[in-house]
Amino acid sequence: MPIPRAGTPRAAPSGTLLIKDISKLVTQNDKIGEISDAAVYVRGNEIAWVGPMADLPEDMATADTVIDGKGHVFMPGMVNTHAHMFQSLNRCLAQDQTLHGWLKTLYPVWAKLTGEAVYVSTLISMVELILSGCTCSSDHLYIYPNDVTLDDTIRAARALGFRFHPVRGGMSAGVSRGGIAPDSAVEEEEAILADMERCIGDFHDNTRFSMLRISLGPASQKTVTNDLMISAARLARKHPGVRLHTHLAENQEDIEYTHKLYGYRFGQYITAVEWDQSDCWFAHCCMLNESERALFAEKRIGVAHCPSSNTRLASGIAPVREMLDQGVNVGLGVDGACSSDCQNMLAEARLAVLLQRAGGNPKQLGVREALRMATVGGATNLGRQTELGQIAPGFAADIVGFKTAGNLAFAGCGADPVAALLLVAPSAGFVSWSIIDGHVVVREGTLLAAGPLAPEFEGGAFPAPLDMDWLLGEGDKHTDTLIAGITETAVGRQ
Ligand SMILES: [Zn+2]
Repeated sequence: MPIPRAGTPRAAPSGTLLIKDISKLVTQNDKIGEISDAAVYVRGNEIAWVGPMADLPEDMATADTVIDGKGHVFMPGMVNTHAHMFQSLNRCLAQDQTLHGWLKTLYPVWAKLTGEAVYVSTLISMVELILSGCTCSSDHLYIYPNDVTLDDTIRAARALGFRFHPVRGGMSAGVSRGGIAPDSAVEEEEAILADMERCIGDFHDNTRFSMLRISLGPASQKTVTNDLMISAARLARKHPGVRLHTHLAENQEDIEYTHKLYGYRFGQYITAVEWDQSDCWFAHCCMLNESERALFAEKRIGVAHCPSSNTRLASGIAPVREMLDQGVNVGLGVDGACSSDCQNMLAEARLAVLLQRAGGNPKQLGVREALRMATVGGATNLGRQTELGQIAPGFAADIVGFKTAGNLAFAGCGADPVAALLLVAPSAGFVSWSIIDGHVVVREGTLLAAGPLAPEFEGGAFPAPLDMDWLLGEGDKHTDTLIAGITETAVGRQ
């Protein structure tokens, strides 16, 4: 039987897994908190027990897979809630542009994307995310040139065994309709809606511990009509678990654009297009005012804070302290692989802290608040706060471990190795262990392949390492095609 374009999903494991002697366990569970000398026991893809080693029940003292957690900090896998993984192959372009100029430089590059290039690009993004401690991510694919489909990104997630929330985006308003994208890059609204419906039918799984849920996401108010926003919202609400996601209030230009086009601000805009419900989460929100933040809190609308992208594109500093104080759920997003140029969740959390403090208040955002945004905040944005983002009985077995002992980056961090994860993030390196849906995906720092990338894997023993030389070679090949003819001006080298 031929392998479908989107690949085939990996089954949940049936065995048991024990992580023992964990030097420091961060659970993000309010009742359990942080534990020294801890253990976690997993049955299949579900966490069955968490606690101090001394209390480990006798029948859990061993397991099919046993991991030694000594000298490690373990924490819930982080949840990334804003990304554009098709952008991994064209980083470091338009280096000195704000969003508008950056987009105009990149649209012609993205017009050359193929389905195979998007598959490779998405694999590279996911590998980087997994190694930084991320176990679940959304991905906003909003441009569909040539033979590109959402299936290409799903194939990558399944190849790695990554928990995935792809967003079927789209652009319908080109320059001739008042938008900013070239007319050649946009689709007909009927075609976008039809493919959204196809993606839901083919891939959306709303069961507990689902590895794949679809969201819908017209690209932004500058690239689609209000009609498409409304139609997408109504379509999503016919299908339980299908959520809505897009960009909002990213920079000053967005304020001016919204006012000029509609005569109102963001709060009125999302209400008008029926995106003012708890099944919506928005990226950026740098420019939300107090009453808009109150609306977000009241309606339980989520925010994906993307500090690297916001600083790289000089968009602004999101009012994260104010959002949290007003009761808005805030998760983190690495944003586009070429607007942040780096897809590292811990680095993103670190910058979130530093950026809030840049105004002069060292208490503006705490280290543990940022780690909470990266875990619980992200899970809540995806509507999965009862399944993901915590290490507690009944939650999915999405767990990551960082080796802190014998690691130069963590030298001298004994006073608080948990804070060290974030504070030394640029040099902390990658995870030693990553477990996704009960499967070991990173073993002692090595990313393991799954699915078609490891055809010999039959369960039981660990699968083979991912062939990184192959992946990077494929990436270089597609990059050469995409950036052919790029000028020094487009690179933005000063
Ligand atoms: Zn974005």
